[in-house]
Amino acid sequence: MIKHCIFCKIARGEIPSEKIYENDNFFSIPDANPKIKGHSLIISKKHFETLLDLPSTLGTELLDCIKKTVLKLIDKHKSEGFNIVNNNFECAGQAVKHVHFHILPREEGGKVPRVY
Ligand code: AMP
Ligand code: ZN
Repeated sequence: MIKHCIFCKIARGEIPSEKIYENDNFFSIPDANPKIKGHSLIISKKHFETLLDLPSTLGTELLDCIKKTVLKLIDKHKSEGFNIVNNNFECAGQAVKHVHFHILPREEGGKVPRVY
């Protein structure tokens, strides 16, 4: 856990959040500045800076959190599809240095969101 990391603060409950889904190692919340209806984030509970720092042993739980979150979002927003975006390092648009995955619900003819 990193004291001043915004996502660590959310994971510790120091910043209130509306969790969509959680398991032992990941949770999902709505993005604070949604680029599209339902734009949400999958976040690790422990602090890892990028995808490269995330232990491969957490792969199953990551996939579980992604799938359960996407199914809830699709149901809520009546979406027809979705994109997953994961920015790593500043040059690729990573603003928060704690690994996270953007979930972007999509529908036919909808606008193309840009999150990097
Ligand atoms: P990235 O540019 O990939 O690092 O994306 C960081 C994302 O975190 C942005 O889409 C922000 O809107 C989002 N964000 C920052 N602070 C919060 C917060 N407290 N709660 C929810 N989302 C946040
Ligand atoms: Zn952190």
